[in-house]
Amino acid sequence: MKIDLPARVLALIGELEGAGYHAYLVGGALRDQLSGIPAQDFDLATDAAPDEMRRVFENRRILDHGEKHGTLCVFSEGAPVEITTFRTESAYSDARHPDAVTFTRSLEADLARRDFTVNAMAYSKRTGLIDPYGGKADLKRKRLRCVGDPDRRFSEDALRILRALRFCAVRGFSVEERTKRAIFDHVDALEHLARERVFSELEQTLCGKEICRVLIEFAPVFCALIPELFASVGFEQHSPYHCYPVYTHIARTVGEVRATPELRFAALFHDVAKPACFRPDATGRGHFPGHAERGAQIAKQALSSLRAPRALIDRVGDLVRDHDEKFKPDLISARRAIARYGKEYLLDLLELERADALAHEQKSALEKRARLAAFIACIEEVCENGDCVSLKDLAINGEDLLSLSVPSEQIGRLLERALDAVIEGRANNRKEELLAYLERDLKTGEDL
Ligand code: ATP
Ligand code: MG
Repeated sequence: MKIDLPARVLALIGELEGAGYHAYLVGGALRDQLSGIPAQDFDLATDAAPDEMRRVFENRRILDHGEKHGTLCVFSEGAPVEITTFRTESAYSDARHPDAVTFTRSLEADLARRDFTVNAMAYSKRTGLIDPYGGKADLKRKRLRCVGDPDRRFSEDALRILRALRFCAVRGFSVEERTKRAIFDHVDALEHLARERVFSELEQTLCGKEICRVLIEFAPVFCALIPELFASVGFEQHSPYHCYPVYTHIARTVGEVRATPELRFAALFHDVAKPACFRPDATGRGHFPGHAERGAQIAKQALSSLRAPRALIDRVGDLVRDHDEKFKPDLISARRAIARYGKEYLLDLLELERADALAHEQKSALEKRARLAAFIACIEEVCENGDCVSLKDLAINGEDLLSLSVPSEQIGRLLERALDAVIEGRANNRKEELLAYLERDLKTGEDL
């Protein structure tokens, strides 16, 4: 076992020990290092009370916003390290905040309040690994198990349910049976959590590499967080293109799409309105008219109630609304699409469509993927060539049109017409050529 403690952390431990206290590495940094993942945030735990820590670190910069809970943020070599006094927690009356925090001199008592065995270990050079709950063995099996009675632990703090799902999705853990049963027994307590906390955990969980498995295994938890998903569980699509029920298809799409919050949330909501929009035809085949538009509304409502940032809500709403857009793989369509959506958004949209296609029945998925890949190649070509796709790239502007004695109220429409001609390859983007083109149009008296 190799635990690397950087010099700046060792310095803090040394100062506490020099003053007669104990100090240990605890939490995520220890867990990660034991599984060979380099750690970022080093959390320390100590038997020194906050005011005792203040004395030990009187020459260091300290942030004390967490002092009520026993945490001081102490700077070492310019970076902060969180040091928390050993504590126990008494009753939780709101499934989230302990009613009181009691400091203790006992490391064992401090480890007992922690959520999962893999997070309830401590290490110091002096003592080596302290692991009263078998965390190391669970870590080896990538298994999450509550410290103590799972029922009690989740009724104390329902956020632990979301932490469990996050560790599964992001770190590839699975949940031990008794802990898992308790998770399902306590989904109702999730409603007590602050919506912002739910959003933050959910966002990280959705971006995890094993999210597809977690969405399927813990569907009741996700439906408790986002009740709009409920109708999609087990909902058969009655279509030759869809071999999975809606929720399963959603889970596969989320797992497939690139891991950015916007794309993952868009995948989560892209087909959420299918059950409500289901219209079977005479042959019994399913159609879902309007599901993209309706899904966008649902996504925006659900994300607003989770207090998601405005920019994310808008982006996800747009992606869900547009996810069924069909593109022809040619240069004209590529220019049009860039003009309409902007390249960055368009590539996100196509990424969503790619993932959506992969989560379909095999044959149609292959065809759709080939079409999307060809379309993306067209977009790249348009961008590499620097093709004109917007009025600001156009070689003429409103002033140029004044020379044609065009009435000012027609200038906007004429410029659009010139842009159309350039996008569709009917005119080159050169000033004289475009003016001549528009003049011809004006002369032939076409309706502008
Ligand atoms: P990450 O890698 O996400 O930071 P972490 O386990 O370090 O994971 P933190 O939120 O930094 O998570 O918490 C540090 C430690 O505090 C945890 O390892 C765990 O021992 C304990 N802890 C955090 N949140 C809870 C909770 N809700 N209930 C019980 N113990 C908790
Ligand atoms: Mg941490």
